[in-house]
Amino acid sequence: MKKFDVLVIGAGPAGYVAAIRCAQLGKITACVDCWIGKDGKPALGGTCLNVGCIPSKAWLESSEYYHEVTHKLGAHGIKAGEVTLDVAAMLARKDKIVTSLTKGVESLFKKNKVTWIAGKARMIPGQKVEVTPSLGGEAEIIEAEHIIIATGSSARHIPNVLIDDKRIFESAGALDFTSVPRKLVVIGAGVIGLELGSVWKRLGSEVILLEAMDSFLAMADDQIADEAWKEFKRQGLDIRLGTRVLSATTKEDSVTVRYQDEKGDHALECDRVIVAVGRKPMLQWLGAAEVGLELDERGYIHVDEFCGTNLPNVYAIGDVVRGPMLAHKGSEEGVMVAERIAGEEARVNHDTIPWVIYTAPEIAWVGKTEKQLKAAARKFKTGVFPLAASGRAKAMGITSGLIKIIADAKTDRILGVHMIAPGASELIAEAVVAMEFAASAEDLSRIVHAHPSISEAIHEAALAVHGRTLHI
Ligand code: FAD
Ligand code: NAD
Repeated sequence: MKKFDVLVIGAGPAGYVAAIRCAQLGKITACVDCWIGKDGKPALGGTCLNVGCIPSKAWLESSEYYHEVTHKLGAHGIKAGEVTLDVAAMLARKDKIVTSLTKGVESLFKKNKVTWIAGKARMIPGQKVEVTPSLGGEAEIIEAEHIIIATGSSARHIPNVLIDDKRIFESAGALDFTSVPRKLVVIGAGVIGLELGSVWKRLGSEVILLEAMDSFLAMADDQIADEAWKEFKRQGLDIRLGTRVLSATTKEDSVTVRYQDEKGDHALECDRVIVAVGRKPMLQWLGAAEVGLELDERGYIHVDEFCGTNLPNVYAIGDVVRGPMLAHKGSEEGVMVAERIAGEEARVNHDTIPWVIYTAPEIAWVGKTEKQLKAAARKFKTGVFPLAASGRAKAMGITSGLIKIIADAKTDRILGVHMIAPGASELIAEAVVAMEFAASAEDLSRIVHAHPSISEAIHEAALAVHGRTLHI
């Protein structure tokens, strides 16, 4: 029987990072993962690298270039000749990026001496795991002093909407479209719905998003959600709130989506459907019940603040446990668990995990929203700066967007930073650092920001918290 100091189950951004860090700290480490890539061979990187963060951003980037050439360059006095769209080339570019990154993790494993085992892991009593090899062969039993579960998540489905990968897709299938849908219905106007809806809208589809909630982007700050709503409507995304999807029926060359809203029953003909209604923890093959692994009330593996489960020396990290389903959250939990196994003090500050939605403009936030603070009866003040008043934004042709800072009414400590702005995915890092160092709004307002830059809007929003804005 093979024995390791640490066995990591799952090689997504939570698991592979945990495995690398364990190995760096001198632990004999193996990582077992059952992902099979598009070429039919085992691949590392999990959802994030294969069908999540990376491929979606590749499509977002390509589609934004197409949109710029076809819709934006004219305003700069640039006339392009006939512009053609090669979806196959975009898809091939996306696949190349994915392969280079998944192979990159393979090299990192080799370099750090992490043993990669391609197979499905099932926990069995006594700190043991049975692995069924992905490419056939006998199952083997592996023993490990510590087990880190990082099995991730899978897409949720809804009744009467059957994923067939021909006309009705999960996000994974929608990253492999070989042509632009004429009319695309996306069920769910959350993060995936907005990102993939934006991709196909930019490439020429008519895009209709059917959202169950009555409010738009409920997890974001209301002011940001309102601004995003106006901007996405302006871009032509047809977002319908308060809808209840009843069914999707496929015909030879179309799909009929039936849904209800307050006006009654509707039938919507389209040529493709993407279902993006959230994700659920992946426990399918793990054997959680057999070993008595405790789940929480929402079906995630129950963990304490250090990602310890109810079983001794068994930890769980990433999408399979509570908290936002974000790659960087999982990776940081992986580092923390590895360091704690090695006897170090480590923790993850869940209050400063940044969120980004990669639309154009991007949406990003860290910390609390106004709604959350009001619910907690916490007194706060806000400062907002609209990008319409930013010189850099004007030069870039940006007319919408804003940056908002929320600070404690008494101490001035920053409690949340929210933005809809070009480059928000990078700008938010300043807010994360500020919050990690317990900065006040005044601290930010006294830091020199380069001119002209979008980051000046952070400076101005901080000044606005004290009614001292200079440019509005
Ligand atoms: P995963 O990445 O899901 O990896 C889990 C791995 O475990 C998989 O390889 C799986 O095959 C394997 N596994 C499961 N069960 C077993 C078993 N029993 N035995 C062996 N192996 C097993 N997050 C961001 O932060 N930024 C983004 O821009 C972003 N974009 C996204 C876009 C899309 C379309 C999607 C779907 C997700 C996106 N996410 C994004 C979310 C991000 O992908 C996840 O939060 C992240 O992948 C979670 O990492 P993980 O390691 O916990 O799980
Ligand atoms: P989500 O929770 O962001 O959005 C799902 C949306 O579907 C919600 O608005 C929900 O109200 C709606 N919905 C649920 N059931 C519905 C139904 N029956 N009909 C219509 N609408 C319905 O989930 P997602 O977009 O599927 O993404 C899953 C997770 O993946 C995200 O929560 C996020 O953690 C992660 N992700 C992150 C990024 C990023 O960081 N940029 C990108 C993509 C995905």
